[in-house]
Amino acid sequence: MRPRIVPVLTKLRFSNQFIANLPADSNLQNETRLVKNACYSFVNPIRATKPKLAAYSEDLANLLQFSTNDCASYDFLQLFAGNVVSPKSKPYAMCYGGHQFGQWAGQLGDGRAITLGELPGLDNTLYSLQLKGAGKTPYSRTADGLAVLRSSLREFVCSEAMYHLRVPTTRALTLILTGDHVVRDMLYDGNPQLEPGAVVCRVSPTFVRFGNFEILAAQRNTNILGQLADFVIENHFPEIKTKDRKLRYVELFEQVVDRTALLMSEWYRVGFVHGVMNTDNMSITGLTIDYGPYGWIEDFDLEWTPNTTDASTKRYRFGQQNAVAHWNLLQLANALYPLIEDVKLLETALHQYPDIYRNYHQSMLVKKLGLTDLNQVNSEFIEELEQCLSLTETDMTLFYRCLSNPKLLSAEFDGERVSLLREAFYEPDNINESVKLSLEQWLGKLVNIVNEGQVDPIRREQSMNNVNPLYVPRNYLAQLVIDEVEKGNFDMLHEWMGVLQNPYTEQQGKANFAKKRPEWAKTRVGCSMLSCSS
Ligand code: AMP
Ligand code: MG
Repeated sequence: MRPRIVPVLTKLRFSNQFIANLPADSNLQNETRLVKNACYSFVNPIRATKPKLAAYSEDLANLLQFSTNDCASYDFLQLFAGNVVSPKSKPYAMCYGGHQFGQWAGQLGDGRAITLGELPGLDNTLYSLQLKGAGKTPYSRTADGLAVLRSSLREFVCSEAMYHLRVPTTRALTLILTGDHVVRDMLYDGNPQLEPGAVVCRVSPTFVRFGNFEILAAQRNTNILGQLADFVIENHFPEIKTKDRKLRYVELFEQVVDRTALLMSEWYRVGFVHGVMNTDNMSITGLTIDYGPYGWIEDFDLEWTPNTTDASTKRYRFGQQNAVAHWNLLQLANALYPLIEDVKLLETALHQYPDIYRNYHQSMLVKKLGLTDLNQVNSEFIEELEQCLSLTETDMTLFYRCLSNPKLLSAEFDGERVSLLREAFYEPDNINESVKLSLEQWLGKLVNIVNEGQVDPIRREQSMNNVNPLYVPRNYLAQLVIDEVEKGNFDMLHEWMGVLQNPYTEQQGKANFAKKRPEWAKTRVGCSMLSCSS
């Protein structure tokens, strides 16, 4: 049954480009099944018993032309809790497949995400609005279609934080507590608990993933595969002007290679580890998508993964995200092959990935280190940097902030530059002489390169602080905020959201949000260890 219509919502101009242009599943039953010859299935969200707005993104609400009054209204809450459906909206769940942890997993699909339709932003972009955690869909398989507060809060905060960090990402408009309880075995150790449920409204120009193409290729449905590729090109890749159909698809692939390489270097820049880089979690437009057991690098460690489900092989560890993206792009190339039927063209594009990534990565590091020229960093220098960061437990975020200190460049600190990095070390008083020496040597090298370029130290500091954030959504802070919200206190969540809107600017009285991980958080579940249970 279609939920009741609230009159105020009739003003919302939902459009439905995705469903207007692509084939729907003809079965309207909401029951688990394999869906063939379709890109999505119609399905309505379920009711939340007692919805409560925990937070919303003012910045995004403004972009989507919701006034402050709109956001405070009963209708707004009901709409984004999934309790009403706007008259112009035709909610649906997408069909996609994917490679999970290196294996083809067959059909997956939106098991708990329901797209309401698209709304125009002030920037003239059409944004899809999607509720995550609003009940089962035909793609839910054996799961419940719901989401718990802790994971919803983590997705809500991190999406908006990434946006303000200028990392390509899907966004989040609302975090709503449903008032219902959800059963989860957080550590998969036979201890299921009742947890508060929540719904997040995610927002993005598109939620299409590599997996949307893979499932159609697996079903040998070249016709719909072509329709999906055409739709994606027309709506999300305006830069593709080529008329020849096959070459358009090749260009699409080249663009995805490029955007994905950029995304990987941006994740590295801010120290983000996705945790579940399965191909169903790879956006076709190069956005960060599906925030699950992600984590932020605190002490620099290329081997680190926050995802306990991936603990044995660490497939998705920090230092391997770039290589995994390349592998995932290979799966996308395979999926697009039936449209192109030319291995060489796809291979050529795929083989360009390492060079494209290296380029992005090096120019990103040039900026992070306050240098000016791409020639100033080669792979040997980067390797030495990464070795330095691993010699003693070093907070990546604070390390780069310290590196911008103008004093570092002064001869006065020759041989004593390590003291300027004190704040970044987890055990500054326990650094032995040989580690100190290696650090001094590398810092001396860096300073020589900087000084050769005759850079103004103050300008260098300003430009570095514009690419090296001070405030990132640290893992332990997320857990502290979750603890507060679970007790019914939303103040810290709102304060944190405010701080994360300006991640590059030091803010008065907000030092607590920039502090390195406290000792207790090193081993606490939810801080450095997360499972896929959400
Ligand atoms: P993820 O690991 O979050 O990327 O999810 C992988 C697949 O499992 C996707 O198809 C999700 O929609 C589905 N899924 C995850 N959690 C749930 C849930 N609680 N209910 C239904 N489907 C889910
Ligand atoms: Mg997913």
